[in-house]
Amino acid sequence: MEYLYPPVIPAVTVAGSDRTLAVHRIYCVGKNYADHAREMGGDPGREPPCFFSKPADAIVHNQAEIPFPGRTGNLHYEVELVVAIGRKGANLNRDSARQMILGYGVGIDLTRRDLQQEAKDSGRPWDVAKGFDNSAPLSAIHPVAETGFLESAEISLTVNGERRQHGDIADMTWDIPEIIAELSTYFTLQPGDLIFTGTPAGVGSLQPGDQVVGHVAGVDTVSIRLVQGDLRSSGVPTSG
Ligand code: MN
Repeated sequence: MEYLYPPVIPAVTVAGSDRTLAVHRIYCVGKNYADHAREMGGDPGREPPCFFSKPADAIVHNQAEIPFPGRTGNLHYEVELVVAIGRKGANLNRDSARQMILGYGVGIDLTRRDLQQEAKDSGRPWDVAKGFDNSAPLSAIHPVAETGFLESAEISLTVNGERRQHGDIADMTWDIPEIIAELSTYFTLQPGDLIFTGTPAGVGSLQPGDQVVGHVAGVDTVSIRLVQGDLRSSGVPTSG
């Protein structure tokens, strides 16, 4: 039987390949760098990782122009190393967790910080703060065969050419195998899952017209531009 509406499968480019990776789910880790936990008013102690998610179709490709999202007065950037999963697994230990890694990319966890604060204050979910349209810009995925297993690498972000974030992935509170192992006790991980692994200090606000460039040394660069205008331009339903 045919679909009433044809499915749209979000996918990301795989560097050095003529195939794309169909995105299954997007998981994210909150406060995984001590200096960022502090700037958010949190305790940089080693409390268990905080997971949240974004819908798979929040992915935006490199070089995209993103309409400035509505319903926020404080849109923030967060540059993050992204881990792509290439196998199925649950309840993994640290060693088997490493074998799950297909490769790495560079992402920006766009956040409606004002709505996130309201959600925290009122004990509500984070979906409208974190899982909105175009909230997950992402570079190509670079296979482990190309990059090796990453344990340290410079991570940085500029806005209009000015450096705003700078750190090293070696400073993650929970390292990548620990994140994968812990996440796999909550969810069965699947090929095509993506994990945004948290951001270093220096997060801040964006305005329409801003050019945002995230970089992880030895991986890639992701670049987006925010443009004026809301996604839901006319308020008139369309056919899909
Ligand atoms: Mn984040």
